[in-house]
Amino acid sequence: MYDAIVVGARCAGAPTAMLLARKGYRVLVVDRDTFPSDIMSTHYIHLPGIARLKNWGLLDRLVATGCPPITSATMHFGDLLFQPPSLSELVPGIPELTLCPRRLVLDKLLIDGAIESGAEFRPGFSVQSLIWDNGSVAGVRGSMGGQPVEERARIVIGADGLHSRVAREVKPAEYNTIPSLTFAYYTYWSGIKVEGIHFYFFEDARGILVFPTHWGQTCVAVGGERTGFHEFRKDFMGNYMEIVDRVPELSEQIRSGKQEQRLLGTADQPNYFRKPYGPGWALVGDAGYHRDFITGLGINDAFRDAELLSQAVNEAFTEQRSIDEAMAVYENTRNELAMPLYEITTKMAGGELTDPAEFMKFGPAIVRNLPSMNGN
Ligand SMILES: Cc1cc2nc3c(=O)[nH]c(=O)nc-3n(C[C@H](O)[C@H](O)[C@H](O)COP(=O)(O)OP(=O)(O)OC[C@H]3O[C@@H](n4cnc5c(N)ncnc54)[C@H](O)[C@@H]3O)c2cc1C
Repeated sequence: MYDAIVVGARCAGAPTAMLLARKGYRVLVVDRDTFPSDIMSTHYIHLPGIARLKNWGLLDRLVATGCPPITSATMHFGDLLFQPPSLSELVPGIPELTLCPRRLVLDKLLIDGAIESGAEFRPGFSVQSLIWDNGSVAGVRGSMGGQPVEERARIVIGADGLHSRVAREVKPAEYNTIPSLTFAYYTYWSGIKVEGIHFYFFEDARGILVFPTHWGQTCVAVGGERTGFHEFRKDFMGNYMEIVDRVPELSEQIRSGKQEQRLLGTADQPNYFRKPYGPGWALVGDAGYHRDFITGLGINDAFRDAELLSQAVNEAFTEQRSIDEAMAVYENTRNELAMPLYEITTKMAGGELTDPAEFMKFGPAIVRNLPSMNGN
């Protein structure tokens, strides 16, 4: 019998397991994947996410993997350049550094942090169903190495992503739902020199994101409105290059650079909030709250919610509050911090955010997501 079983061991699951283990709980974290392994995702971590890595003692390790520091972000609207104000202007004393690590590196570092903190990790464990006792979730059933496995806990936490098996079983209420609005395709190039990250927006709602990442590679993503996805897929490399060619200085470098990985893409970008708790269960990360990737918030949000949820579980387990009260605080705080960013994200994904000045609201909204910098 564990205190908590966490299903999913990436940006949401690993920190949740780590923070609970650090509070002395007996935690089992499982993932059907083995690590290190990649996942469909690009890499931008907003400053609150970086601040949490620092608090958790993991930032120096990530920097030591050779992840290039990102010190500027530039938005290009045709010939108009826009640089969002540096957050250190809004919050004096905050270091102005972000990172775009490969998930292969970041996710392994996170799960190692959980293991070192005392969580038990079982990779290759696929959860197939939940165990229920009198209307309350009491554990998981799954398979590992072809063998059936059952484990029980006081709480089962679904950190199992967008297509969460845990959410499918507990059927949480969903609200503020907006169907997928965009699609994106990305790959990695070597031999490209860029400073900072760049976002290019075009009048036909197509766009380009450029992120320097590990191993001297640059991630170049293109995207557009979801309605254009099927047409795009008919010749995805040709259409990818057609968008890249709109920026001659980038196109030249890409055409003489080396493509390091096949092109990956998706149009599966729904926007929703889910009620993240019920009897014996909780949801964290994409399983509980998902927004379009366009503002690069998923990792930031997963870290924030891992912290909020682990605080709530601890308050309930130490009887500082009832479980319902603690979990309601988790849900309300998540929603309050996420909502202004959700509105900007869904407007931007829907092509309704055309005035660069509107981006000015992003800075104050993301600043509210910063943790206290006193450590954890
Ligand atoms: C194209 C694209 C680009 C993106 N770019 C960015 C970006 O630049 N910045 C950013 O912050 N976010 C970005 N995101 C979003 C980000 O990737 C997600 O928000 C983030 O990965 C969510 O973390 P998570 O831990 O909740 O879920 P996931 O990272 O999806 O992890 C879920 C884990 O659960 C495991 N799992 C699932 N089902 C089971 C099961 N039944 N049994 C056992 N294990 C299971 C999976 O194997 C997986 O390891 C992007 C997403 C996409 C699609």
